[in-house]
Amino acid sequence: MSQDLFQAPDYYQLDELLSEEHLLVRDAAREWVKREVSPIIEEAAQNAKFPKSIISGLAEIGAFGPYIPEEYGGAGLDQISYGLIMQEIERGDSGVRSTASVQSSLVMYPIWKYGNEAQRQKYLPKLASGELLGCFGLTEPDHGSNPGGMTTNIKDMGDYYLLNGAKMWISNAPFADVAVVWAKNEEGRIKGVLVERGMAGFSTPETHNKWSLRASATGELIFDNVKIPKENILPNKDGLGAPLGCLDSARYGIAWGAIGAAMDCYDTALRYAKQRIQFDKPIAGMQLQQKKLAEMITEITKAQLLTWRLGVLKNENRATTAQISMAKRNNVDMAIHIAREARQILGAMGITGEYSIMRHMMNLESVITYEGTHDIHLLITGMDITGISAFK
Ligand SMILES: Cc1cc2nc3c(=O)[nH]c(=O)nc-3n(C[C@H](O)[C@H](O)[C@H](O)COP(=O)(O)OP(=O)(O)OC[C@H]3O[C@@H](n4cnc5c(N)ncnc54)[C@H](O)[C@@H]3O)c2cc1C
Repeated sequence: MSQDLFQAPDYYQLDELLSEEHLLVRDAAREWVKREVSPIIEEAAQNAKFPKSIISGLAEIGAFGPYIPEEYGGAGLDQISYGLIMQEIERGDSGVRSTASVQSSLVMYPIWKYGNEAQRQKYLPKLASGELLGCFGLTEPDHGSNPGGMTTNIKDMGDYYLLNGAKMWISNAPFADVAVVWAKNEEGRIKGVLVERGMAGFSTPETHNKWSLRASATGELIFDNVKIPKENILPNKDGLGAPLGCLDSARYGIAWGAIGAAMDCYDTALRYAKQRIQFDKPIAGMQLQQKKLAEMITEITKAQLLTWRLGVLKNENRATTAQISMAKRNNVDMAIHIAREARQILGAMGITGEYSIMRHMMNLESVITYEGTHDIHLLITGMDITGISAFK
């Protein structure tokens, strides 16, 4: 990839809404992405390899458990700092942000919120430092948008539980040391189960040939009579609300992250359009290209405002599931449109790995599907405003 010349757009001077700490955290993440992610990410994506060399750096910028209290190794930051870190990482690559999101919101969050003290002490500091990596198993081959229908199950054997079933499309699965797995008990109640690599009957085959999120490893989780010690069950919350609570936190991070991908596409296209001469003048001077660029910065600015406000609500514990859902849906859709338009501004160059746009565009095809599809988020908003569920 060519040199990373990224300059973040801030059309409405929104930096003025951020505290000194927010700016410090954001700028540290921004610099780290420029220094450590941009130079290696294209090759990692082309080779479909998660770049493990960046794990310690992710930990250092606070990307593993940004809002988890410091006593458990987390960064103890607020929700806006969390969002800004996700924005900067996804500016580099959605796959890298996915790894950070899973570790923070889908593994550390449930252990922190639904686990007991022994579980917190055992896992959280090592997850925060990157010594352990985690994954989150909710989706199954036959249950994606409808996770409540899951068939993965645990059976009480007296001294231990027996876990059977399979999860699919699991980020970080191929190398995760610990998996937070959602399974039904004999009463049909969904429970969180901590499954560790090395347990007999547990395997994690990698999913190959993805055209999207190629720098993030995806795989299956297969449980064939896995003996689960009783202390590996998350005791403090069960039912579908438990995994959905984790998704709220991850979707919030994605809403911020998508802005990062959009900013990178816009900034790349703007710079290219000013330099690329056709018909004896920069293409940035052509009305059609200006229309694209003007619409991009308008949409980015709207998304920045929406997300900042959501961050304020989240800090006050007032952000609802439906509000988070709206921001995830809006921002990912905004980013994918910007990626497609930006790609066109670069003409043929836009399809090469010389620029980040095509990689962002392909990545966003997963981001618009995972953590609730675009359609499902629309139904969440629909249900919220009408009081009527249209899921079935
Ligand atoms: C790269 C990647 C990484 C992922 N990582 C994880 C992970 O770490 N952990 C995890 O648990 N899962 C993960 N997922 C799975 C992801 O969350 C699911 O793919 C997603 O929830 C959608 O499920 P599905 O693919 O089975 O699609 P389906 O649920 O089969 O949906 C197919 C289509 O039908 C539509 N649809 C479904 N229900 C309705 C309805 N009621 N009304 C209208 N339309 C509907 C959907 O919007 C979609 O367009 C990942 C997915 C990808 C692609």
